[in-house]
Amino acid sequence: MNGLSYVATTAGGPWATYLEQVERVVPYLGHLSRWAETLRRPKRALIVDIPIEMDDGSIRHFEGFRVQHNLSRGPGKGGVRFHPDVTLEEVMALSAWMTVKNAAVNLPYGGAKGGIRVDPKTLSKKELEKLTRRYTSEIGLIIGPDKDIPAPDVNTNAQIMAWMMDTYSMNVGATATGVVTGKPIELGGSLGRLKSTGRGVFVIGREVARRIDLPINGARVAVQGFGNVGSAAAELFAGNGAKIVAVQDHTGTVYNANGLDIAELMATLRRDGGIGKCPGAEVIPNEQFWDVESEFLIPAALEGQLTPERAKRIKTRVVLEGANGPTVPEADDILTNKGVLVVPDVIANAGGVTVSYFEWVQDIASFFWSEDEINMRLERILSEAFRKIWETGQQHKIPLRTAAFVVACSRILQAREERGLYP
Ligand code: GLU
Repeated sequence: MNGLSYVATTAGGPWATYLEQVERVVPYLGHLSRWAETLRRPKRALIVDIPIEMDDGSIRHFEGFRVQHNLSRGPGKGGVRFHPDVTLEEVMALSAWMTVKNAAVNLPYGGAKGGIRVDPKTLSKKELEKLTRRYTSEIGLIIGPDKDIPAPDVNTNAQIMAWMMDTYSMNVGATATGVVTGKPIELGGSLGRLKSTGRGVFVIGREVARRIDLPINGARVAVQGFGNVGSAAAELFAGNGAKIVAVQDHTGTVYNANGLDIAELMATLRRDGGIGKCPGAEVIPNEQFWDVESEFLIPAALEGQLTPERAKRIKTRVVLEGANGPTVPEADDILTNKGVLVVPDVIANAGGVTVSYFEWVQDIASFFWSEDEINMRLERILSEAFRKIWETGQQHKIPLRTAAFVVACSRILQAREERGLYP
């Protein structure tokens, strides 16, 4: 199906979704389509064995991955995910989406992603540290401030980035803050990074709303996933007068037609690690989340959530993809045909990697910016990137995802062509 012998592509899985998205962009690439095969093949994929001694004295082995999908425009860049469902196929797709995202925003990076197949909730802090350090050491062959720069993703955070930075630094014999982003502020982290993905979701939502005459004030918003991305986006929407009518996370789905109290949601999250027991909210069955009427639907959890079956039921104006790869291609078509505007992940959630870029630049310069400056630059870069994607969509009369791929893949393949083939 994909011409690659080393990975079994799952129908409807993330790599198949990505390949289909590439098929849709090829007709718009002109002479650069000659290079399109480059997009269908990760440049480099490393599989590592991670053995650690558990607190009870037993030895366990975990599977880890780092995939560098494309390095034509600069070093690899993309997060590291700790999740029991991580596979090579998934990390390949996530790395490819990073290539497209970084080019869509015009950051001077290629695309990469990493992951460990593990449920981190089952590990003690010491075990998590050992796992992170051994993984970092194993992928140390291919990462570095000018080679490939990891960052947080699902179930990874600033503490994990601190361990990664320390491990890499110990191995090379010098403190190398620029090897990862999303670090604690004290270790070369950037102000604004933590909430930047959610902020970007809101900024792009506002840009869309302006163009389709949809007021944010009073708009109904449904959010799937209340982690780093979903919670920060919900806070900003609520702060600008929107009503958060439904939220779903791994602890359940809560609903309130008049708008959930954002302060209660945040307090419940802090207390329980999930929003399932939020006071003042009606608990509804998980599957009913997709029937809730809204103006903005923000999937901010995992891939493949917007299936064709759910797409038929969804009643919203705008899908703002906070997650990576939440919509399968058939669902994309169903939504578009219903007149729902799908704003793709590669621009909607690009705020995180944009501030990661600022962090990396600040680390290299050893000169740090104020939070206002960071947020101002973030808004400017995202709005400009979105303007170009929107105009490309209007010009060719194509959905925003294909438009974002046209802008991004043209940049990637132009760089590919100019560099030429070695040897
Ligand atoms: N994991 C985030 C993403 O999917 C951020 C990556 C980064 O900052 O490098 O975009």
